[in-house]
Amino acid sequence: MSSITDPAFLPVMESFYTIQGEGFYSGTPAYFVRLGGCDVGCVWCDVKESWDASQFDWFSVEDITKEAQASGANVVVVTGGEPLMYDLSELTKSLKQAGLQTNIETSGAYLLTGDWDWICFSPKKFKAPLDEFYTLSHELKVVAFNKSDFSWAASHAEKMHTESQLFLQPEWSKEKEMTPLIVDFVKQNPRWKISLQTHKYMDIP
Ligand code: SF4
Repeated sequence: MSSITDPAFLPVMESFYTIQGEGFYSGTPAYFVRLGGCDVGCVWCDVKESWDASQFDWFSVEDITKEAQASGANVVVVTGGEPLMYDLSELTKSLKQAGLQTNIETSGAYLLTGDWDWICFSPKKFKAPLDEFYTLSHELKVVAFNKSDFSWAASHAEKMHTESQLFLQPEWSKEKEMTPLIVDFVKQNPRWKISLQTHKYMDIP
């Protein structure tokens, strides 16, 4: 999709200033830009309304940057949907020129574009990731939906570089069932850490 759209414009489903609830940056104030469009098809996806990009208006990277800057945030998290369905080079150039830190959350199913300070790679079983994300990403975040996801997570961790951060996160609807299993797994595999969707516990977006 990136080859047929102008990287100066992107479909924004929503954008808002909040607290990053998950992963390495959990607890950090961040301006979220949620791009519309995803064809990964996770059965447990909690933002299915993001999948159809045609529902959303396209905004210039200039306007997205102005809004992010006006929020007062230091960190911008670009998420989706699957944000790398688009060429994000113009967006990150603009955000960096404005002095903002660029973080992305991606399934890794599309080629990486853009200049990122932090890449959170969250592979999904439903569409295989590209190999480049194992070396380029700072963080691996695996959402655990059932017991088989632990060995699946370990198979991805083996390919990550040694400095990368590893997080296991219970899928929200299975949180009660999966969290104790994740606790056991992390104690037995101490390179991993637990990521909880703390924004949901705090009832913030
Ligand atoms: Fe939903 Fe993300 Fe999976 Fe896309 S990659 S279906 S947005 S959870």
